[in-house]
Formats: sequence, structure tokens, C-alpha cells
Amino acid sequence: MARLCFDYGHGGNDPGATYKGRKEAEEVLNIGKKVAAEVRRFGVIVDETRTSDKAVTLKERSNYENKSNYDYFISFHRNAFKPEQARGVETFIYLNPGARAEAMAEKIQKALVAVGFSNRGVKRENFHVLRETVAPAILVEMGFLDNSKDNQIFDSKKRQIIEALASAILQQLGIKYTQEQSKPTVNTLYRVMVGSYANRENAEKQIQRLKEAGFDAVVMIGEK
Ligand SMILES: [Zn+2]
Repeated sequence: MARLCFDYGHGGNDPGATYKGRKEAEEVLNIGKKVAAEVRRFGVIVDETRTSDKAVTLKERSNYENKSNYDYFISFHRNAFKPEQARGVETFIYLNPGARAEAMAEKIQKALVAVGFSNRGVKRENFHVLRETVAPAILVEMGFLDNSKDNQIFDSKKRQIIEALASAILQQLGIKYTQEQSKPTVNTLYRVMVGSYANRENAEKQIQRLKEAGFDAVVMIGEK
């Protein structure tokens, strides 16, 4: 069974990027947990370096990852530069990442570009969480939090982004993603209407006809 370690950037006294009341720490926790829930539907184990708004140091994140064997380590972030100056998605891998990390990064990058973000590419960086983790590691920057166009995509296509990330991750694990089927609610009733009558007598006549024809009919009184 595949095992993943999800890492939601920042938290607690470190909000990460902030812009117009938005907080990176909050947004990556929120979306990351939803991606985790999607991926778990396929029997994949997902552990998380944090599940609430609390501070976790970089060292604590890599230590957490080092304790278990994971197939991949995935760190979720949102980018920032100068207000409204940069936009798009970029995914980071370590300086000598290995083929699996590279393949995971490429799939995630491609999936988010398909949702509508501009493509800043897969890049190599000497980040702590990429260097100090054992599993193939990637860090995704899901658009710029200080760019209104990126935020518009992030907010209006939230569900598509969650599904795109889940689908890309599962694809790299060799699992085909399918959307959850919405089941009809057990309590739903389907009423069959024959007609509405302003006059009670006409309604009763219709009931009589239906009963004669073998239907179980009843008059329901309602407002026009
Ligand atoms: Zn960040």
C-alpha cells in the first residue's frame, strides 16, 4: 500500500505569505487536507506534518518524515513576490532529485497548469524539506497569494485544483483517479402528480377515476 507524507507549509505564528487578509498557512492547510481525503479514498495512507494551525519547524517536518518509510513527500505552499507582479504555478525538487521525484513534480505541475495557472515550470532548489527528507520529495507553489488573478483561479476552481492534485499524485502511484459518485439520498421521495384542481369536487372525481383504474390515489391540499 502506498504511503505519502503531506506537509502543509507554515502555521501558528508563521502565516507564510499574506495579502489582503489571506494567509498562506491557512490556505495550504485547507486545500492539502482535502487532497489528502481524496487520495485516501483509493486506499493510500497519507500522514500529515500538521493538521491544524500550529507552528512546525522545518527540522520537525523532516524529522517526522524520517521516522517512517514514505513513497513520496509532498509539501504544499502558495507563492509571493511583489504584490500583483508575478503569477503562475511552480514545483520544486531537490538539486539531484531522482527520477521519481521529478516524475511526480512534472505530473503535479502539468495538472495545475491544465486548471488554468500559468506555467513557471519544475525547478531545482536546495530547500530544507527537499534535502532532509528520505522519500522522493516535491514542493508545490499553488499560484501567487499576492496576485489577484491567481487568487481568482485558486478560489473559483478550488474543487478542480483538489481533483487535479489528487489525480496527478495517484497517477504517479499507478492508480487511476475517479470522481466520487454522488448517491441519491435514501430519504428522497418521488411524488407523481396527476393534476391540480381549484375545486375540491373535481379533485375527488379524479381520485375516483384513478382508484377505479387501480391506482392508490390521495388528495393533497396545498396553496396555489
Ligand atoms: Zn510557503
